[in-house]
Amino acid sequence: MVGLVSTCRACGGRLAVTMADLGLQPASNAFIESLAAAHEEKRYPLRAKVCEICKLVQVDYDVAPQELFGNYVYFSSYSDDWLAHAKAYCEMARRRFELGSKSLVVELASNDGYLLKNFIDMGVPVLGIDPSDTVAAAAQMIGVPTLVEFFGVSLAEKLAAEGRQADLIIGNNVLAHVPDLNDFVAGIALLLKPTGTVTIEFPHLLELIEHVEFDTIYHEHYSYFSLYALEQVFSRHGLRLFDAERLPTHGGSLRIFAAHSKRPDLEDSASLHRLRAEEGAAGLADLATYLKFAERVENCRRSMLSFLATAHREGKTVAAYGAAAKGNTLLNFCGVTPADISLVADRNPHKQSKLLPGTHIPVVSPQALIESRPDYVLILPWNLQAEIRQQLHEIGEWGGRFVTPVPVVRIHDIH
Ligand SMILES: [Zn+2]
Repeated sequence: MVGLVSTCRACGGRLAVTMADLGLQPASNAFIESLAAAHEEKRYPLRAKVCEICKLVQVDYDVAPQELFGNYVYFSSYSDDWLAHAKAYCEMARRRFELGSKSLVVELASNDGYLLKNFIDMGVPVLGIDPSDTVAAAAQMIGVPTLVEFFGVSLAEKLAAEGRQADLIIGNNVLAHVPDLNDFVAGIALLLKPTGTVTIEFPHLLELIEHVEFDTIYHEHYSYFSLYALEQVFSRHGLRLFDAERLPTHGGSLRIFAAHSKRPDLEDSASLHRLRAEEGAAGLADLATYLKFAERVENCRRSMLSFLATAHREGKTVAAYGAAAKGNTLLNFCGVTPADISLVADRNPHKQSKLLPGTHIPVVSPQALIESRPDYVLILPWNLQAEIRQQLHEIGEWGGRFVTPVPVVRIHDIH
């Protein structure tokens, strides 16, 4: 399953509309060690397409996983906010689903076990499933049993045959990374006890569209979900949503609650009705909405090129902040070079002294950015701009101005 995808990975429908054509892009975490190594860099088409039937947004070119993760810069720790989010979720789930010592909680893409550990502390048995042996080993170290496997029908059948069906299945920020969506969701239905619950968290497509967050599209993400498209996938496999809530994580996410379709005791929540209505009003069932998005993406690029050309003409220097996937999609899409943006700062020491994938802009420390006294600092993770402005001000005053790139370039006042 590598290469061009011509039909919808959920329903087999035609991928009729291009929502964002971001050109040829390298893997967004494939940092380059030196200019000498840059000529070996591979690029792949990055296009978000929309299925004309179920309206699932998906990339139409799959890159081999070893190409994506071969040079991966590993992030070992989670933010305190994220850990608190996980703990609050576990406490809610234990109460709401009456979990106890006879229950089983299974997490898909359980990573280093930071979430499941909370259930262990409450005396609720758990099982983690994650394809990465590195993170699974870290989970085992803190006492979270973890299977190093890809999840799908065959693993679910095996667990069910061993009598290990789940009362609660958790999948946080995993769905976008799944190439074979039907196999994954069919597996969930097989693994779930008749009375069990599934909760899934994912970045909400509605937020992506409203805030023109096309820079969150990159090769590691196969699909981008609306409630509208997701409900169709779940119902195909005998599952139904009965509740959903908004979360502030990842620029606006949804947490959905699902169960087997034949659960007469469950009614759709008011919040689920409201979210369906919001998506309907925003036109997510309508192909024209996605075409309009493509124009807004083009406007963003035009404003970036015009900003860089003006800065160059006026002899002003531009630096950037944040060597993350988000920034790489944007810079490569706009065809930015080191002549336009001389350096990019990042706090992660593993990225410093490397070059950004595709654009080959050198990554430096935030201190080095301030010392270079650029006229403009382009904040690539623009959703975190308040935090980043604060961080840079704490390092020192440098007399330049902040710039945010999306939905169109905006130069901020000095304050
Ligand atoms: Zn489809």
